[in-house]
Amino acid sequence: MKADIVTIFPDFFRGPLDHGITRRATEMGLVKIEVHDLRQFTHDRHRTVDDRPFGGGEGMVLKPEPLFECLESLQLPTREERLTGAPKQSVIVLSAQGQRLTQKLATELAALERIVLICGRYEGVDERVIDFLADREISIGDYVLSGGELGAAVIVEAVTRLLPGALGNEASSRQESFTAHAPAETAGADSTCGSGGLLDYPHYTRPAEFRGMAVPEVLVNGNHLEIRRWRREQALRKTLRNRPDLLDGVELTKEDKKILARISGAGHIQN
Ligand code: SAM
Repeated sequence: MKADIVTIFPDFFRGPLDHGITRRATEMGLVKIEVHDLRQFTHDRHRTVDDRPFGGGEGMVLKPEPLFECLESLQLPTREERLTGAPKQSVIVLSAQGQRLTQKLATELAALERIVLICGRYEGVDERVIDFLADREISIGDYVLSGGELGAAVIVEAVTRLLPGALGNEASSRQESFTAHAPAETAGADSTCGSGGLLDYPHYTRPAEFRGMAVPEVLVNGNHLEIRRWRREQALRKTLRNRPDLLDGVELTKEDKKILARISGAGHIQN
């Protein structure tokens, strides 16, 4: 996959994407990340990328000319070509007003050959960029940041770790929070507990006892069926406590429903 990032702060990306899985995926050739300095597509002495908004009001807006010129330099298929048939590229504007980034959306993006991420600044980008240049707007959450750079880094990280081969152990992405398949009853014998759209279950490592805090007994007794059941219950408990909205989209087994009836009837949830 290729990820092009368009920004007025190219140095911002020195660091966040140079570590861990993103770095490894880059070194393995699974992803190629290219950062484009928007100011290189200006033609005035001051390398101006912004201007005052028509109609008045606060702040500045990223001008359309450098953004259109920058995107033209990337030699992408036309917007019409990108939006017809099975898309292989997507031009994305980072925006608080965009479609919210989810694991499902990250999975869709990971199936593409190329994503172009346009980082807004100030009051945002000239709306013609959204209407005529970009394919979609994506938000990383319901809050307002000062620029799209953090959002672009989040998207690249979320998407890269889904590329086949990016994680050493493929199973670790299948079992993560929000991963919408493999309910407990259908998970393979060696699987501990596919999340099936739930939040992930709790993880522990050595020492088994730390400052008087012991790892749950079930995890050290070696009974894999009990471990699987325990993990599923913990995933249900955590989802009910922190993100009950997710339960609507989860394929619950009979056993899950019994557990939920028991723990939600308890008034409060204990681990
Ligand atoms: N005037 C805009 C509004 O109220 O929606 C906010 C502009 S914000 C200060 C500047 C830039 O930060 C945006 O153009 C966008 O690229 C980025 N940004 C801010 N919040 C974001 C979010 N939640 N997700 C993705 N990008 C965001």
